Amino acid sequence: RREITVDAWSTEHADQIVEAVQVIPDVKILKVSDRTFDLHRKGKITIESRLPLTSQSDLAMAYTPGVGRICQAIAAEPEQVFSLTIKSNMVAVVTDGSAVLGLGNLGPEAALPVMEGKAMLFKEFAGVDAFPICLATQDTEEIIKAVKYISPVFGGVNLEDISAPRCFEIEKRLRQELDIPIFHDDQHGTAIVSLAALINALKLVNKSLESIRIVINGAGAAGIAIALLLKKAGAKSIWLCDSKGILSLKRNDLNPEKQAFAVDASGTLAGAMKGADVFLGVSAPGVVTPEMVKSMAKDPIVFAMANPIPEIQPELIQNDAAVIATGRSDYPNQINNVLAFPGVFRGALDCRAKTITENMYLEAAKAIASLITASDLDREHIVPSVFDSRVATAVAAAVQHAARQDGVARE
Ligand code: NAP
Ligand code: MG
Repeated sequence: RREITVDAWSTEHADQIVEAVQVIPDVKILKVSDRTFDLHRKGKITIESRLPLTSQSDLAMAYTPGVGRICQAIAAEPEQVFSLTIKSNMVAVVTDGSAVLGLGNLGPEAALPVMEGKAMLFKEFAGVDAFPICLATQDTEEIIKAVKYISPVFGGVNLEDISAPRCFEIEKRLRQELDIPIFHDDQHGTAIVSLAALINALKLVNKSLESIRIVINGAGAAGIAIALLLKKAGAKSIWLCDSKGILSLKRNDLNPEKQAFAVDASGTLAGAMKGADVFLGVSAPGVVTPEMVKSMAKDPIVFAMANPIPEIQPELIQNDAAVIATGRSDYPNQINNVLAFPGVFRGALDCRAKTITENMYLEAAKAIASLITASDLDREHIVPSVFDSRVATAVAAAVQHAARQDGVARE
């Protein structure tokens, strides 16, 4: 008689193991543990001192009375806060828990594991110190106020998992009212990586951004930001669709962000996709059929980025689409925001940027795209791996360069 403990990393994994083991005679399952839960116990990040604190004089410098002189120096010259405190390398990861991953409005406590994870990625990929802030309000004005009040501590703010359309107003107002970079990753991180991937995909099919028609399905946080950045990059023809179909000039139910992209066409997504060169999905699972892809122009590019289940499964269109990308790690060409946000903030912090400009997004996208050389580029390699250590450095350099060009670098 044997007694075993099952150590699984997901519920499905645990079920599979239990099912497989149950059929073995004389085996009794004592305990099923979940590795993912285990590694979350007590949280994923911690705060550490950078200095020794072992003598009376250490204490007198790091804390009072010595620190008092530092306070006075900053009071006399506020810019000194960057060189004498954590501000220069510290980013607030701010959420209200209203759009947690693809899981919905789970509230601030439930959002915390995601924000801790984001802080880990900032540190691991770009050496940026990030702190999770989960606000117990979902009121636009209250969120703006809260972020303003905590801003002295931070060199930048990464807004995260705040639902559309409130996220547009919150970001816009904070950009106007604060002099540090404000970056809603679900919008601009996605837009940067999507553009990088599209730049490389277009090389494979010999088409130019200026000459193609692009259909974006989903006009929320990601869809609107992608459309804005593609336009900035030179795209001339972009049709957006939401859950009611094409954003048409004839519709009177569009918010201002959607209205800005209304076109002189109407109908369903299927209609929009006929003859289009590119489909970018940031919408919902399974809303695209193989027939819709077949109706596109020659050598169609399909980025089905709804997570975790894409707009269409790649295996269904392997022979119809020239290039396919998803948001998932188990298919080639993963459009993952982690390719962008660590380097964006590294670059912005290093030059003490006052804000983030569209030009900085654009250059970040080009930097990511340029890491795939002509000889490496093929339909399954249009973006670098998330573990490619060159990415954050290249993005940071490009962002910093663009910040200087735009005159928003303090240093
Ligand atoms: P969001 O702000 O809630 O926007 C979702 C948009 O999709 C809305 O405009 C909504 O239409 C539209 N939509 C929903 N169901 C639809 C349908 N059946 N047909 C057409 N449009 C539909 O969400 P988001 O943050 O932009 O994210 C959208 C999706 O993209 C999610 O699945 C997310 O996981 C994924 N995503 C992936 C990546 C990545 O791979 N790197 C990054 C960001 C987002 P209405 O406006 O009419 O409600
Ligand atoms: Mg997010």
